Amino acid sequence: AAPLAQADAQIARSIDRELHRQQSQIELIASENIVSRAVLQAQGSVFTNKYAEGYPGKRYYGGCEQADVVEALAIERLCQLFGARFANVQPHSGAQANTAVMLALVKPGDTVLGMALSAGGHLTHGARPALSGKWFNAVQYGVRESDSLIDYDEVARLAREHRPKLLIAGFSAYPRVIDWARFRAIADEVGALLMVDMAHVAGLVAAGVYPSPVPHAHVTTSTTHKTLRGPRGGVILTNDEEIAKKINSAVFPGAQGGPLMHVIAAKAVAFGEALQPAFQDYARQVVANARALGETLREGGLDLVTGGTDNHLLLVDLRPLGLKGNQTEVALERAGITCNKNGIPFDTEKPTVTSGIRVGTAAITTRGLKESDCREVGRLILDVMQALRRSPEGDAQVEMLVREQVQTLMSRFPIYPEL
Ligand code: PLP
Repeated sequence: AAPLAQADAQIARSIDRELHRQQSQIELIASENIVSRAVLQAQGSVFTNKYAEGYPGKRYYGGCEQADVVEALAIERLCQLFGARFANVQPHSGAQANTAVMLALVKPGDTVLGMALSAGGHLTHGARPALSGKWFNAVQYGVRESDSLIDYDEVARLAREHRPKLLIAGFSAYPRVIDWARFRAIADEVGALLMVDMAHVAGLVAAGVYPSPVPHAHVTTSTTHKTLRGPRGGVILTNDEEIAKKINSAVFPGAQGGPLMHVIAAKAVAFGEALQPAFQDYARQVVANARALGETLREGGLDLVTGGTDNHLLLVDLRPLGLKGNQTEVALERAGITCNKNGIPFDTEKPTVTSGIRVGTAAITTRGLKESDCREVGRLILDVMQALRRSPEGDAQVEMLVREQVQTLMSRFPIYPEL
């Protein structure tokens, strides 16, 4: 069989260039990470050929002996990692996991109460353009204007007023700890089920450095590719046997066909890695790095939404420097630093512009950066921003100098050297 470079030079070239991009730039997208060679290998395995509709021991296809072994291991490891009784590892993504929960627990037209996208929630928590916002009566809570924190009294008030069937907690851009028990109390008071989407912090939860929602939520969903450092995908956890049965039928045959067995193999490998003691050190370092980066940015005159962070992400308010999220994102990218523009609570700019950027330390911590390195990253970010203040088109000279420093810094923390 011809290797990829001969079989398809165009795709091979793009993969090479993407590898080089990942090796040479500073990855600060809060939802990304860098998987191990073992995870890559499992995902690139012959399991990509296998159909395995159904669940271990109950398949609709022959030849599933090894698929059963792999999926059973993924389930067992995931349950161990989060102290859960039941797990479904088949959702193709985080959005698929959330859709399956809705299919299992609510009906079209029912009321769901989730965090607004503009306040840090996710599209799948009831945002208007998403299935969750179109098929359900989606009511949204936000954060308090004074401190950008979740106002639990306000969540409780909305729950009493709208009597949701499903209360959703979890976020894509919230830098603080969430009081899961408080959410459960609100759900119980109004007879709602509580779904927690821990996608962003799953790795921190697994390592015990962020409070676990699993004992509190009726059902917990997650992606596997953020702080958890696995392949792209989703999972669902619950301690309730009845809910577990409904979830299994909602994932298959409800929302999906055959599971991606190569991804499930890679998930199993990643869960095995997260069970190792070294993963706890990693997660602790992720949070320490986020704090160090945040302090440097604050010293440089920026505001951090909520004033700081308890997890892996920082929501940076650019208004003190008079910058916009879109121009900052592209200027940083030119300088070799990747992040995303992000609305801040009560942002008056359009979502395509925004007054903020979101940065996270999951990927750079995997590469081995420590607090002092993160302070250097912060200073490089500030250099680009200061230049942007002087010339809104960006200063090519400064960006080139920063790019060189980025490459020097990252060459000390190589990834995939054997590729
Ligand atoms: N839930 C949360 C909280 C997320 O942040 C994301 C992705 O950013 C998702 C769900 C969706 O995950 P996916 O992109 O795998 O569908």
